[in-house]
Amino acid sequence: MLTSAKITELDRRRVWHPYAPMPGSVPPLVVESASGVRLRLAGGAELVDGMSSWWAAIHGYAHPALDAAAREQLGRMSHVMFGGLTHEPAVLLCDRLAALAPDGLGHVFLCDSGSVSVEVAVKMCLQYWRSRGRPAKQRLLTWRGGYHGDTFMAMSVCDPDGGMHRMWDGVLPRQVFAGLPPGGFGAGVDPAYAAALTRLIASHAAELAAVIVEPVVQGAGGMRFHDPGYLRVLREACTGSGVLLIFDEIATGFGRSGSLFAAGHGGVSPDVMCVGKALTGGYLSLAAALCTAEVAAGISEGELPVLAHGPTFMGNPLACAVANASLDVLLGGDGTYPRGWRAEVLRIEAALRSGLAPAAGLPGVADVRVLGAVGVVQLEREVDVAAATAAAVAEGVWLRPFRDLIYTMPPYVTGDDDLARVCAAAVAAARQNGQPS
Ligand SMILES: *Cc1c(COP(=O)(O)O)cnc(C)c1O
Repeated sequence: MLTSAKITELDRRRVWHPYAPMPGSVPPLVVESASGVRLRLAGGAELVDGMSSWWAAIHGYAHPALDAAAREQLGRMSHVMFGGLTHEPAVLLCDRLAALAPDGLGHVFLCDSGSVSVEVAVKMCLQYWRSRGRPAKQRLLTWRGGYHGDTFMAMSVCDPDGGMHRMWDGVLPRQVFAGLPPGGFGAGVDPAYAAALTRLIASHAAELAAVIVEPVVQGAGGMRFHDPGYLRVLREACTGSGVLLIFDEIATGFGRSGSLFAAGHGGVSPDVMCVGKALTGGYLSLAAALCTAEVAAGISEGELPVLAHGPTFMGNPLACAVANASLDVLLGGDGTYPRGWRAEVLRIEAALRSGLAPAAGLPGVADVRVLGAVGVVQLEREVDVAAATAAAVAEGVWLRPFRDLIYTMPPYVTGDDDLARVCAAAVAAARQNGQPS
C-alpha cells in the first residue's frame, strides 16, 4: 500500500488530470473508498458527494446490486471481442435501451465513452447522406452553449467561446452555430428565436448532415436550461429541411432532468441519440448511439454497406452487465426506489430549490436555478475553484465548480440531511467567492 503522501507525490510527477497542466498545480484529494453517497478520503475524512462523479453515479457508490452484477459477470468473462461474437449482457442491454428510448430509436451501437458515441452519431449521419447520394451534406449545426465531448468532431460542436475553438482554429471542422437558446425550462418558446433557428437550418440544409443539441439541459457548456418547446421547433425544422436530428443525452439520460430522457419533456424523438455517463450507474465507461430504422437502412443500403466503426472494447460484457443492473435498480427491480426514481428526483429538486435559495441574495451571485436533480449557482465572475472547493470540503461536501458555476447533481439516493449539507456547502462556496480577495 502506498502512503497518501506517496500517492500525492507520484500523482504530481506522473499523472494528467482533466483540464490540468503537467505537473498539476493543485494536488487532488486522495480517495480510498466510496459507498452510498460518501467518498472516504485518505486519513479517514468523509465527504458527501454532490457531483455523482460527473452525472454518472446516480445510485451512489458500492451499490449492492451493481457490485453483485459485476462480480457475477467477472466469474463468466470480463471481455470478449464483439466482432463475430455476441453475448447476453449486450443483447439484453440494447433491447432494453431501444424499449426505453424515445420512439423509433430501435438500433443500438455500443461504444466506450460519451465522446466516442458523439463521433459515432455524427459518422452515422454523414454516412447516411453519402449513401443516399448527398455527400455534400457533411456539416453540423448546433446552438451556442453546448458541450459534446473532447474528441475533435465533438469539440467542433462545443460552444465556440467556452470551448477550445480559438486554440484549434484551422483544425476543427467549421460548423454552423445558432444563438444561445433562450433560458428557462418553463419560459415558453420565443417565436423570434424559433423562426431564426428554423431559417438558419433551412438556409444551410444543402450542406447540413445533422443538427446536434443537448435537449433541455446544456451541461458542461454552461449548465443552462431551456424550454422543451425548442425540441419540437428543431424536430419540425429538421424534418422540413431534410436534416437529421441528434440528441446528446449523455448528461441528461436516465432521469436526471425529471424525465427518463430529456427528449421526453418535449415528446420529441430524434433520429440519433447518444447516452453514456449514468448508463452503468457510474461503474464503468460505456456509451451508446441509438438510431432509427431509416438511418440504419440508409447506411446499410449504401455503397459501403456497413457502419465502419468498431472499438476494441465494444459491447464490453462487464460494463453491459452493470448497465443492466443499473437499469434494474432505476426501474424498481430491487427496492432502492420504493416510490420510483421520479419521486426521488422530484424530492431532490424541491430540496435544491429551498436549499440553494439563500445563495440568490449573496453578493457576486448572478443566478440560482434548479431542474430535476440539477442545482446551479452562477456567479458574476470566474469561481476561485480552490477556495470554493475548500469551503465545500469544510462543510463535508465534494463539489467541483468550473468557470462561473458552482453546481450539484447529487446521486438519486441522497437523503434529506445530506441534501441540506450539499446545499449549505454550495451556498458557503458562493459566499466564499463573494468575499473581496
Ligand atoms: C460528458 C459529456 C460528453 C462526453 O462524454 P465522455 O464520456 O466524457 O467522453 C458528451 N456530451 C455531453 C452532453 C456530456 O455531458
